[in-house]
Amino acid sequence: MTVYFDHAATTPIRKEVADEMYQVILNQFGNPSSSHQIGRKSKSILELSRKTIAEILNVLPSEIYFTSCGTEANNLILRSCVNDLGIKTIISSKIEHHAVLNTVESLAQNQNINVLYVNLLENGNVDLNHLEQLLIDNQNVLISLMHVNNEIGNVLNIQEVGNLSLKYNALFHSDMVQSLGSFPIDLSKINIDFATGSAHKFNGPKGVGLMFCKKKNKLKPMITGGSQERELRAGTENLYGIVGLAKAFELSNLELSSKINHNKTLKFYMIDKIQAELPEIKFNGDYQNGSYNILNLAFPNLNDSNQMLLFNFDLNGFCVSGGSACSSGSNKGSHVINTLQQHNGYIPIRFSFGKSNSIQDIDAVIEFIKSIVK
Ligand code: PLP
Repeated sequence: MTVYFDHAATTPIRKEVADEMYQVILNQFGNPSSSHQIGRKSKSILELSRKTIAEILNVLPSEIYFTSCGTEANNLILRSCVNDLGIKTIISSKIEHHAVLNTVESLAQNQNINVLYVNLLENGNVDLNHLEQLLIDNQNVLISLMHVNNEIGNVLNIQEVGNLSLKYNALFHSDMVQSLGSFPIDLSKINIDFATGSAHKFNGPKGVGLMFCKKKNKLKPMITGGSQERELRAGTENLYGIVGLAKAFELSNLELSSKINHNKTLKFYMIDKIQAELPEIKFNGDYQNGSYNILNLAFPNLNDSNQMLLFNFDLNGFCVSGGSACSSGSNKGSHVINTLQQHNGYIPIRFSFGKSNSIQDIDAVIEFIKSIVK
C-alpha cells in the first residue's frame, strides 16, 4: 500500500491533460515563431492556451506569460522590478517559498535592496497593521507575499494587501503557486500587479509555469535572446507543456467545488480524529482557516530526528513531507516552522490532500501515528 499525502509538492498529471499534450506532440512540431503555416499552427495553439488561462483569471491574454516554472516567474518579477521599475524596498516575509526568499536575499546582498520582513502573528498569518506601518515608512516599494503557504497552508488576505498597496502606491506581487488552480481567483477584482503559478501543482506537467503581469508594468527579460513572449521571456516556447498547463488549469477550475469539498472533508476528518484520539499531536499554522488541502502536524519529539520520522512514514507506505519538497534532504529543517516557533521542540510533518485520497487513507495513517506515539 502506498498513500500519497504530498500534493503540495506535486500532483500526478491527469489523463485528459496527457492526452491533449500527446496530440500536440504528435501533430504540431512547428516553431511558434516561424511565419509559415506549420509555425502559425503552433502559434495559434500557444495563443489559445494563453486565452484560456486569461479568461479564467479574468485578465487580458497579453497579461499572461509562460515560463519554465514558478521559480523562474518569481525570479523574473522580483529582479525586473528592481532593475527596471525603480524598486528600492521589498516587503516580504520570512516564510515565503525559497523561490522568493532566496531571490530577495540575493537582491539585498548584490543590489543593495532594502528588504523588510513583515511581522507574523503566532499562527503565521501576516500582521497587516505592521505591513501598513512599513508602507507608511517606505517608498518605491514592492510587496511580495505568497497567497497560500506551501508548508502550513495559511491563506493571505490578498484583497486587503491589494488595497494597502493601492493606498500607499506600492507594487504587489503574490506567489500563487499553491493557489492558482486550487482556489477561485478573479485577478481583475484584486489590486495586484504580478502573480505566478505552476502547472504541476494542479495536475499539469512539470517544467512549465505562468506569470501574470499587469499591462502598465513594463518588465524586461531575465533570460535574453529572441523575442518570444512579447520580448519578456526568450527561448522557443514549451508548447506541449503550455498546452498541458492550460488544459489542467481549465479542468481544475471546472471542478473546483468538488475538489474543495473532497479535500476539505478529508482535512477536517483528520483534524477531528487527531483531536479526539491523539491529543499529543499539535497543529502548525492557522489550520482551521488555512488552505483546505494542507495540514501540518507537530509531533512530540520521540527521540526521533526529523529525517527518521519521515523515513518511518515512508517505510510504512505514507508519502508525507517535513517541509517544502525543495528543502527535503537538508538537515536545517523547515525555515517556516523554525521562523514561527509555534510548537518548540516538535517535529513538523505536512499532509497535503488530493483526488486519490480517501477517508480510509486517513484512518490508516491515524492508526499508524498511534503506533508510533502511543
Ligand atoms: N512557490 C511555492 C509556494 C511553491 O510551493 C513552489 C513549489 O513547490 C514554488 C514556488 C516553485 O514552483 P516550481 O516548482 O514550479 O518552480
